[in-house]
Amino acid sequence: MDAGIGVGLFARDDVKTGNEPCYVCKKPTRSHILEPALYEEYVAEVIVERSDDFANKQWEEVEEIVKTRKAKNAVTCCHGCWLARREEIAEILEKDYEKWESDPRQYLARIQVVAEICKTYDFEEESKRMRYLISMMKESVK
Ligand SMILES: [Zn+2]
Repeated sequence: MDAGIGVGLFARDDVKTGNEPCYVCKKPTRSHILEPALYEEYVAEVIVERSDDFANKQWEEVEEIVKTRKAKNAVTCCHGCWLARREEIAEILEKDYEKWESDPRQYLARIQVVAEICKTYDFEEESKRMRYLISMMKESVK
C-alpha cells in the first residue's frame, strides 16, 4: 500500500540540505542551493500487533500511518561555478540591458529567462535590475 495523500511535493525548512553534485561540475557541494529538496507524504502500513509464533491462528493488526520521504534531491551549485555563472550573466546585462530597457516587450522571452536564472542563483543585484525591466513591461501593457 503506497498511495500519495494529495499534498503534492513540498520543501522543508527543518531539514538541512546535504552535499549534492554541483549542477555544473558535479563536485559535491551545498554552497548554493538552486532548488531545495522536495518531499512527499505517503501512507504506509505498519504492523502494530501480531499473534505470537505459537498461536494456532496467526493474525496481525495493521495501522496506516503517514510517512514522509524525499521525492527529489536538492539542486546545488559550488561557489566556483556560481561565480562563473554570475560573471556570464553580468556580461549579458552589460551587453544587452540598455537594449532591453529601451523596449522590454520586444525582448520579453529573453528577459524572462535571464530573470529566472538570476532568481534561481540568487544574484541579488542582477535580480533587482531584471525585476525593474519586468515591472516596466507590466506598466507598458496597461
Ligand atoms: Zn561546480
